[in-house]
Amino acid sequence: MNVLVINCGSSSLKFQLIDSAGEKVIAKGICERIGIEGSRLVYTPVAIGGSKTIIEEAMPDHTKAVQMVLDALCDSKIGVVKSLEEIGAVGHRLVHGGEKFAASTLITEEVIEAIKECNELAPLHNPANLIGIDACQKLMPGVPMVGVFDTAFHQSMPEKAYLYGIPYEYYKKYKIRRYGFHGTSHNYVSHKASEMIGKPYEESKIIVCHLGNGASISAVRNGKCVDTSMGLTPLEGLIMGTRCGDMDPAIIEFIAHKEGKSIDEIMEILNKKSGVLGISDGFSSDFRDIEDAYLEEDDVVGKRCLEAFSYRVAKYIGAYMVAMDGVDAICFTAGVGENSPIIRNIICDNYLQFLGIELDQELNNKRGQDLIISTNEKGPKILVIPTDEELMIARDTSALVK
Ligand code: ADP
Repeated sequence: MNVLVINCGSSSLKFQLIDSAGEKVIAKGICERIGIEGSRLVYTPVAIGGSKTIIEEAMPDHTKAVQMVLDALCDSKIGVVKSLEEIGAVGHRLVHGGEKFAASTLITEEVIEAIKECNELAPLHNPANLIGIDACQKLMPGVPMVGVFDTAFHQSMPEKAYLYGIPYEYYKKYKIRRYGFHGTSHNYVSHKASEMIGKPYEESKIIVCHLGNGASISAVRNGKCVDTSMGLTPLEGLIMGTRCGDMDPAIIEFIAHKEGKSIDEIMEILNKKSGVLGISDGFSSDFRDIEDAYLEEDDVVGKRCLEAFSYRVAKYIGAYMVAMDGVDAICFTAGVGENSPIIRNIICDNYLQFLGIELDQELNNKRGQDLIISTNEKGPKILVIPTDEELMIARDTSALVK
C-alpha cells in the first residue's frame, strides 16, 4: 500500500509517499512558507529517478499546500501515481497525545476531539498538526488516516520516571508530568538496534541518543521505554542547539529579578537563545559550526560547547544504565548523532571507558548507514543508526489500516 506521510507545521508541510510493502520512498518533499509570501513546493519523485522540482505558487492555507502535493504526485510528467486511488492511507505525525494515546491510532471524530484536548500541552504544534489532518480529509475523503504521536512510545514509563517532585495536585489537575518526545525515532532506532545486536527486542536493554538540533535520550528495556530526558515540553534534558535542557528552576526567578524580564521573555531565552547557541555566547546553534571551532582548537567556543554537550549526554547514559540494570546497546541517531564522529568519540573515550568500549575509527567516520562502530567483545555495543520516522509512521499506518 502507498502511504502518504504528512508532518505538518504552522507554516510548512513535509511529506513522503512510501510503498509500505517494499518500505521504499516513492516521492518526497516540503511545502514552505504556507500563508506567507514566497511559498513554494520542493518535490522529488524518487521512484522515477526524477530530480528536485521547485514549484513557486501562492499557498494561502494548508489545504492549498496539500492540493499542490497531490497534483504533483499525480502529474503526468513528474508524478509517481496515476490517480489518488493509488494512495491507500495517510499517516500524520502528531506531536502530543498526552496520556490519551499510548499507540498510533486511526483518526476518527472522537480522536480529533481527544487530540484537541492535548493542545494545551503543545500549543505550537498540535493545532498545526490538526490543520494538516483537516486539509487531507477535505481533499481525500474516505481515505483512512492514522495519527502517530511523538509522545506515545514513552507512555510505558513507570510513574517513578514520569512524576515530578512537585505537588501531586498539579498532576491531577493539569496532567503535569514527563511525556517525552521524538518517540517515533526512539521506537524505530531501538527496534533496529535489537536486530543489529541479534537480541530479541523483548529481552534487550537499549539506550537511544537522538541528538539533533532538538535532542533527547531514552532507555528502552525489554521493548518498553522506561525513561526519557525530555519532559512536559521538549525543553528538559540535554543541552540542545538553542534549548537549555536541565537547569535549576530558580534560575528563572534570578534572571527575572536581575534583568527585569517577564516569564514569557525568559522562556523565549531558554527555548531560543540557550543551549550551545547560548554557551557559545551567540556564535552558533549549528553543531557543524561548533565542530569547526573545536577542530580549530577554539577553546572558548568549540571545547566549551562540545564538552558541556557531551558530558550531559554521558551523564544520562550513566543514569539510564542504572535505570535498566545494565545496557546492551548505546545508539546514536539524528543530525548530530548520525554525522558527528567527534562527539561520539568525546562521549565514548572520555566517559565510557569503564565499560570496556573501544571504537573502530574507520567505522566511526562512515556516514549514512546502520553500523556497529565498537569492537569490544564484551560490554555494550555502540551503534550508529540513521533514524527514519517517516518509515515508522508508514508502518504503523498500514498496520492499522489493514
Ligand atoms: P532537528 O530535526 O531537531 O532540527 P536534525 O536531526 O536535523 O535536527 O539535526 C540538526 C543538527 O545536526 C544541526 O545542528 C546540524 O549542525 C547537525 N549536523 C548535521 N550534519 C552534521 C555533521 N556532519 N557534523 C555535525 N553536526 C551535524
